[in-house]
Amino acid sequence: MWAGDHFCGERVVASFEFEKQSHRRLNPLTGDWVLVSPGRTARPWKGQTETAAPENVPAYDPQCYMCPGNKRASGKHNPNYTGTFVFENDYAALQPGGEAHKENVSGLLVARAEQGNCRVVCFSPRHDLTLAKMSNAELRAVVDVWTEQYQLLGSENGINSVLIFENRGAMMGASNPHPHGQIWANATLPNEPAKEQASFAAYQRQHSSCLLCEYLKIEKERKERIVCENDEFAAVVPFWAVWPFEILVCSRRHMGSMNEFGAEDVRSLSEILHRVTSTYDKVFGVPFPYSMGFHQSPTDGQDHPEWHFHAHFYPPLLRSATIRKFMVGFEMLGTPQRDITPEIAAERLRGLAANRET
Ligand SMILES: [Zn+2]
Ligand SMILES: [Zn+2]
Ligand SMILES: [Zn+2]
Repeated sequence: MWAGDHFCGERVVASFEFEKQSHRRLNPLTGDWVLVSPGRTARPWKGQTETAAPENVPAYDPQCYMCPGNKRASGKHNPNYTGTFVFENDYAALQPGGEAHKENVSGLLVARAEQGNCRVVCFSPRHDLTLAKMSNAELRAVVDVWTEQYQLLGSENGINSVLIFENRGAMMGASNPHPHGQIWANATLPNEPAKEQASFAAYQRQHSSCLLCEYLKIEKERKERIVCENDEFAAVVPFWAVWPFEILVCSRRHMGSMNEFGAEDVRSLSEILHRVTSTYDKVFGVPFPYSMGFHQSPTDGQDHPEWHFHAHFYPPLLRSATIRKFMVGFEMLGTPQRDITPEIAAERLRGLAANRET
């Protein structure tokens, strides 16, 4: 049991009801806190209430720069691909090569040149598919291409971080419904993986064990926040979740990255991604928007025994197909806050995940 500032090893305060009283929870991966205020779910809602516009997405869109055979902004034509397709982002935020440059004015104006690669991965030639609607074989092909790209990009000189992610839905700023994700590879660890890297390493030093392996043990005992699992992966609403229906997908075996994947891992990861995304679509009966991405070992040529492979799903929807959680006010200026507890969210998702008619 847990109480107070640490979620293990402290005395239980019998009178405190976590499902009713406001409290803070620590994210041990980042060191950030989240404020949980279960009492606020009773408050009246006078904000956005309109229903979601139905998505009429065609199987092929002649205007789409990702559909097979179409012309992109760069003037290049996509091949008539039939599976997955990877190309360099025509509006890349990072470019390979360039000069090394550093700027430091009194420790206050600090800048460094950054180089890298930005790629787009089309998951399917079909404009109207989502991960939730793909077959197992199609999803395995997506996991295979991610694995291949992580290895390829990660082995390049000067690429120390490979971040694979997907923004799904207009609400998350995805500019095109064509099923696709992105891969940004660069020289330095981005902020979130850098915070996690420090936490994994500190935990390993202090406990001679892995932060997420130990966390999964607790979740498996409690069963309160596990949504679904298979032989290789588990999906949980993390104890410290910020987004209403946030999910953390962790490998059950300790491994740092897709470089350690065998055929079973590819199969199981595709399976759990399908379970998670199709469960999400059942929450409000609409294709659920989210940002998801994989956090994996840095590709700096060092061993990273402390790192544990995982994926985060951050979906913004809160009360219905159109009512999203906003990170404003106290959350923007103070600490992120949530109303429904992670345990309630997990219970709801678990019920939907168990219902397998997809
Ligand atoms: Zn398309
Ligand atoms: Zn581990
Ligand atoms: Zn992470």
